[in-house]
Amino acid sequence: MHDPDCIFCKIIDGRIPSRKLYEDDLIFAFHDIRPVAPVHFLIIPKAHIPTLSDAETAHEAMLGRMLTKAGDLAREAGCTDGFRTLINCGRVGRQEVYHLHMHVVGGPDPLPPMIVFER
Ligand code: AMP
Ligand code: ZN
Repeated sequence: MHDPDCIFCKIIDGRIPSRKLYEDDLIFAFHDIRPVAPVHFLIIPKAHIPTLSDAETAHEAMLGRMLTKAGDLAREAGCTDGFRTLINCGRVGRQEVYHLHMHVVGGPDPLPPMIVFER
């Protein structure tokens, strides 16, 4: 459940530094290194699960923890009136780091439209 070459596994281990927000037995949260908004952090499982598509029934407690902690951490970061979560999945979803992560983004009131599709 650990990939020695994975950048986010290295962050969990402290082999790569990060600005940590939170950690428990199942998840780890840290500020994104290239924030797209004043508040932009990532919540990741401690287990190396490459993408959301790889999540299984056994991961339900961890996935629930990611979602319930998002609101707490966003509020603590100043997002008292709302925020956005996003999980990019796979090639089509333009996922860059293949260790499951949920983006939590906030700051602008309101945030820009969710996704702009070219027509
Ligand atoms: P995604 O495109 O959904 O895979 O997003 C990967 C995110 O990881 C990007 O927003 C990056 O800025 C972020 N990221 C990559 N390396 C680091 C790092 N060392 N510390 C914090 N965030 C990182
Ligand atoms: Zn990993």
